[in-house]
Amino acid sequence: MRTDSVVNIVGAGLAGALLGVMLMRRGCGALRLWDRRPDPRRTRAERGRSINLALAARGIAALERAGVMDHIRPLLIPMRGRMIHERSGAATLQPYGQREDEVIYSVGRAALNRVLIEEAARHQDVTIRFDQTCLGADPADNLLRFRNEISGAQYHVELGPTIATDGAGSAVRTSLASKGQLSVREEWLDHDYKELTIPPVAGRPALDPNALHIWPRGGFMLIALPNTDQSFTATLFLARTGPRSFEALSDSQAVLDFFLEEFPDAVPLIPNLMAEFTAHPAGQLGTVHTAPWRIGGQVLLLGDAAHAIVPFHGQGMNAAFEDCLVLDSLLEHHSEWESLFAAVERARQPNVAAIAQMALENYTEMRATVLDAGFLRRKNLSLELERRFPDRFIPRYAMVTFHPEITYAEALRRGAVQEQILLELDRGDAPADFTLARKLINELLPALAPT
Ligand SMILES: Cc1cc2nc3c(=O)[nH]c(=O)nc-3n(C[C@H](O)[C@H](O)[C@H](O)COP(=O)(O)OP(=O)(O)OC[C@H]3O[C@@H](n4cnc5c(N)ncnc54)[C@H](O)[C@@H]3O)c2cc1C
Repeated sequence: MRTDSVVNIVGAGLAGALLGVMLMRRGCGALRLWDRRPDPRRTRAERGRSINLALAARGIAALERAGVMDHIRPLLIPMRGRMIHERSGAATLQPYGQREDEVIYSVGRAALNRVLIEEAARHQDVTIRFDQTCLGADPADNLLRFRNEISGAQYHVELGPTIATDGAGSAVRTSLASKGQLSVREEWLDHDYKELTIPPVAGRPALDPNALHIWPRGGFMLIALPNTDQSFTATLFLARTGPRSFEALSDSQAVLDFFLEEFPDAVPLIPNLMAEFTAHPAGQLGTVHTAPWRIGGQVLLLGDAAHAIVPFHGQGMNAAFEDCLVLDSLLEHHSEWESLFAAVERARQPNVAAIAQMALENYTEMRATVLDAGFLRRKNLSLELERRFPDRFIPRYAMVTFHPEITYAEALRRGAVQEQILLELDRGDAPADFTLARKLINELLPALAPT
């Protein structure tokens, strides 16, 4: 679609910058990208805010479509599975998948965003304006309002068509909701997160760099993802209030006692534990449900702005990138922004609702169920069923993470059926009945289209 009006993208974060690259490849006309931050090509990344992320197949498919994977590959560290650290210090790797290529990748948010911004900025029709905070959208007056963070001046530009990718706290979404043009439901988790650093030891990673490390402790957990500088970013997910909570960790001694009791093997790995625990903010986590995502052909919300989710499936960015991929695919079938925006919402809404639910469910799995004998038995059984019936049975985690051709909604649906089959086949320590398995799978799980 080529347009005479300037297209605005509010928020040059992960989704906004990628979308900028994609729209330019399609030759959509002039594009303005706005962000409230200073230009990340000239400044250091802020610490303490999801420094690194797990990139999986859906995100990679979108990056490949945008033609940027060659620049991103050097930033990626493969993670083969979850390394589970028990309180005793024992560590076991639970592989994510059974094929060589079934890995996810740790990637630094700042470096990834910088590459995407550089790629978007290469196009002559793109203007990127940093230090500009969007204050809201006024569809009735066709205005998009901003404040210049350098001069403090407020001003407006023509609104439509605008794609708002200004993240979980979206100002565009808030302004439209305040006018009653869309409804928003924010479900905050009663657990927060805090990031800490595990530096390299004598220039080498302190843990296996090809795993996502988890210290599951039932009601809470610590995780760590590798960085390209050999360090790890560790994240503590913990209740906000209560006996085991951030509120209870009110002084250094309480923090140290808590870590020594719960994560004794991690304490020596985090030399600046006290200083970082005090200095780094605790972040909130939640799910944002928005309806509708669009106002005619004037505004479309995408990424976290439309549907922020909790991070426990490592899919928020992947889902935001998949939004961009879907919009890119639909572009050639629509000559009007209004019908394009409607089609994007129709295609994505049921899928992001499904991943929002699966992400919440995964929190319980990561912090508690991974240690449960029944869970491990059924996990092994599900891998065996995948080996025997690869065109029908794929564990839900693998469908979400490694199979972008299966939508999130379909993964949720098939996952529920598979769970029933697993429960029926699970006979404790006795071997599973694979004749029954074949019958149930053939009856209940339609064959997947070959990829
Ligand atoms: C602790 C944690 C861990 C996570 N781990 C993973 C993971 O492993 N894998 C994964 O896929 N996802 C993960 N996520 C989710 C992921 O971070 C988000 O889903 C992703 O960043 C969404 O991209 P986005 O572009 O929609 O929003 P963002 O990346 O948040 O970008 C929004 C952009 O808009 C700008 N902006 C905000 N407000 C304004 C305004 N008013 N005016 C102008 N600009 C504005 C911001 O500066 C920013 O550049 C995690 C999230 C958290 C909190």
